[in-house]
Amino acid sequence: MRAQVLAAAHRPLVMTDLPPPHPAAGEVLIAVKACAVCRTDLHIVDGELAHPKLPLVLGHEIVGAVVEKGSEVDRFQIGDRVGVPWLGWTCGVCDDCQDGRENLCERARFTGYQIDGGYAELTVADQRYCFAIPPNFDDVAAAPLLCAGLIGYRTLRLSGGGERVGIYGFGAAAHIVAQVAKFQGRRIFAFSKPGDRAAQDFARGLGAVWAGGSDEMPPEALDAALIFAPVGALVPAALAATRKGGTVVCGGIHMNDIPAFAYSLLWGERILRSVANLTRRDAEEFLALAPQAGITTTTTSYPLADANQALADLRDGRLEGAAVLVP
Ligand SMILES: [Zn+2]
Ligand SMILES: [Zn+2]
Repeated sequence: MRAQVLAAAHRPLVMTDLPPPHPAAGEVLIAVKACAVCRTDLHIVDGELAHPKLPLVLGHEIVGAVVEKGSEVDRFQIGDRVGVPWLGWTCGVCDDCQDGRENLCERARFTGYQIDGGYAELTVADQRYCFAIPPNFDDVAAAPLLCAGLIGYRTLRLSGGGERVGIYGFGAAAHIVAQVAKFQGRRIFAFSKPGDRAAQDFARGLGAVWAGGSDEMPPEALDAALIFAPVGALVPAALAATRKGGTVVCGGIHMNDIPAFAYSLLWGERILRSVANLTRRDAEEFLALAPQAGITTTTTSYPLADANQALADLRDGRLEGAAVLVP
């Protein structure tokens, strides 16, 4: 099978012919139809996440069809369409797993990081971490739901909501979570890079009541702020825009250093927290909600051969919505 392989950090992916993987007893073999490109993939390529499997096939927003089943697979049939997210395996026995926080499991393994992912024609996945995809999304449209959608949903949920929700960084996650928030009756205030009028117009088109630069203050204090850009300087900016008692959630897996800031920005019982990974419950809730909320995704498709171009376009902010690789 053809796969885009990362040999080491800071190197371009190389299209490689690999032997087809075989599913273990609890795994399905999946013919990949679409795999979205996540900012986390860039962090792995850039060496910002420690100890990836190497060589590695990136990709953790996979939509495909089951083409072979391990001997113990009972959740899916041959031909079923499934989605594979970032969370690939958890231990099931630690305190975090037992208490509904499998996203924090110390032994968790992640797709496209410690397990080969979806920048390939075929992939294998543990059936317990695969999900049926709602039928009203085609393969390319569904792919960004698997991380941008899921992580965005968890970020919004852990923000405590409130009516006035600020979103910093209007990329793949934001464009989906904005629609969820609007469906829930919230008002969206979108913050882009200063001067990025295209991103601000995109946000308004998705229902934002206000869009401006991240150096601007919103017209009303926010109840919650969600930060999706990997920029630590946005943390004090978001705290300054958030009301007393409000919550600022960092939704990305990596962020550059947060600059020192005055305690007065946190004072007033403001809450600052991160979101780490996802649970299977998040996936089930979000994939049920997405069709009800009428979510649509904005995507740019690339052939698998152009994976490096897709990563470069994401890095340089040339994309609206999500990049999706099609083998
Ligand atoms: Zn991701
Ligand atoms: Zn565990």
